[in-house]
Amino acid sequence: MSDTIEKVKCLIIGSGPAGYTAAIYAARANMNPVLYQGTQPGGQLTTTNEVENFPGYPEGVTGPEMMIELQKQAERFETDVRNGWVTKVDFSGDVHKVWVNETKEIHCDTVIISTGASAKYLGLDSEQKYLKLGGGVSACAVCDGFFYRNQEVVIVGAGDSACEEAHYLSKLCTKVTMLVRRDEFRASKIMAARVKNTENIEILFNTETEEVLGDGQVVTGVRVFNNQTNEKHDIPATGFFVAIGHKPNTDIFKEYLSLDETGYIINVPGTSKTNIEGVFVSGDAADHVYRQAVTAAGTGCMAALDAERYLAAKEANIEVSA
Ligand code: NDP
Repeated sequence: MSDTIEKVKCLIIGSGPAGYTAAIYAARANMNPVLYQGTQPGGQLTTTNEVENFPGYPEGVTGPEMMIELQKQAERFETDVRNGWVTKVDFSGDVHKVWVNETKEIHCDTVIISTGASAKYLGLDSEQKYLKLGGGVSACAVCDGFFYRNQEVVIVGAGDSACEEAHYLSKLCTKVTMLVRRDEFRASKIMAARVKNTENIEILFNTETEEVLGDGQVVTGVRVFNNQTNEKHDIPATGFFVAIGHKPNTDIFKEYLSLDETGYIINVPGTSKTNIEGVFVSGDAADHVYRQAVTAAGTGCMAALDAERYLAAKEANIEVSA
């Protein structure tokens, strides 16, 4: 336990587009925000190469560059951006308590959660190698599909996301091979039917990935095996998309906040409010549908505005309705 407790008007947890946008708005509203970056400063976008769909960058921008610019913009308005990992919270009282790196205790009037979600990967060495190299492994077809137009790609997964992403890729790529580990889809019937009826999507059931093949720099194919027969074969591909689900980074909040069955924070529809007054959520921690940088930024803005209004109403001693 720390000996000095810091008091903060607006604490922002997370440093993706949601967190930094919340910081820009909160700072400009004189809320003196403090932002903790977490273990992956910049969030999921730092694992992306080129971002071409964020408005305002006609030539595109790399994910890491965009996050540096967002950080600079937040700091320009005097956001206190800090390294640190929020390890515990206590939202049971009027003052929201947050602990950083197990030791530092902060008492907050408002908290904006922008902790995002992490894409799940298979965990194969070869997958991680080409992911880190930016050489053809991706967990976001909408973000990266464009780079594979007129090429052949492979996608793993059998849920609604995989079907949606396979269909999206089928409009850009010459061929999409979909690897389904069981003999059926998990996705809704309508989504599964859509991929089954798309000519350039080939579905391989009972099929798993053994290795992502490459030339040391970029992906050149995928070695797969049939888990019933153990037969192996190689599929030529320049892109390997993983669509096996996301995990929202919300474990430390579950004692206090309402979460859905997958762990996403449930917000009051149309707002960033959670079930706890003064605690707001933005970005992928509450969004399993859109998951885009621009939607995360939009909800970051909402969270800062909601927090500002909450504080103003509290200061004026007005009851805030959920
Ligand atoms: P899901 O958890 O629904 O599906 C994950 C899929 O990945 C499953 O088919 C699972 O296989 C497969 N999988 C998991 N681990 C592995 C592995 N190691 N190797 C191979 N395959 C693996 O995640 P989604 O992201 O698809 O969906 C999450 C939620 O979001 C769902 O509720 C979904 O309905 C919703 N959603 C809705 C959309 C819409 O309505 N437009 C669009 C996208 C998502 P198995 O089936 O064998 O377990």
